[in-house]
Amino acid sequence: MHEMGIVIHLTKTLDEFAEENHISRIGSVTLSVGEVSGIVSDLFVDAWNYFRKKHPILEEAELRIETIPAVTHCDGCGKDYETVAHGRICPHCGSQETWLVRGNECIIKEIEAETESSEEESTKGGI
Ligand SMILES: [Zn+2]
Repeated sequence: MHEMGIVIHLTKTLDEFAEENHISRIGSVTLSVGEVSGIVSDLFVDAWNYFRKKHPILEEAELRIETIPAVTHCDGCGKDYETVAHGRICPHCGSQETWLVRGNECIIKEIEAETESSEEESTKGGI
C-alpha cells in the first residue's frame, strides 16, 4: 500500500524533528499533497491513525491534508494547463511534448508542536 509507506516515512521524519527540537508533543501536521500524487486521503488517514498510536508524541496529532492542483507545461506552445482536466495532451495546441510542473508531491507544510520549555511556561501561566 502506497499510503502506508508514506506514513511510515512521515512518522519517522516527525520523530526525528521532535527529537532535534525537543518537542514533547505534536499538535497537528499539515501536508501538501499533489492532485496526481496517487495518494488517497482516506487511506492515508487510516494509515496515519494506525501508526500515530505507536508514536507517543503523535498520539493526539491532527492530520490536515491540503491538495495542490496539478499543472502541466507544454513545450509546444509554452502554456500551462490543468493536468487533471486535460491529461498529457495540450488543450491549446494538441502537442504531447508536455511535462508535469507540480501536483506529484507530498510535503510537510506545517508542524504545530509544543516544546518542553513552552510547555513549562504554559503551566506556569495557568497557575
Ligand atoms: Zn501547447
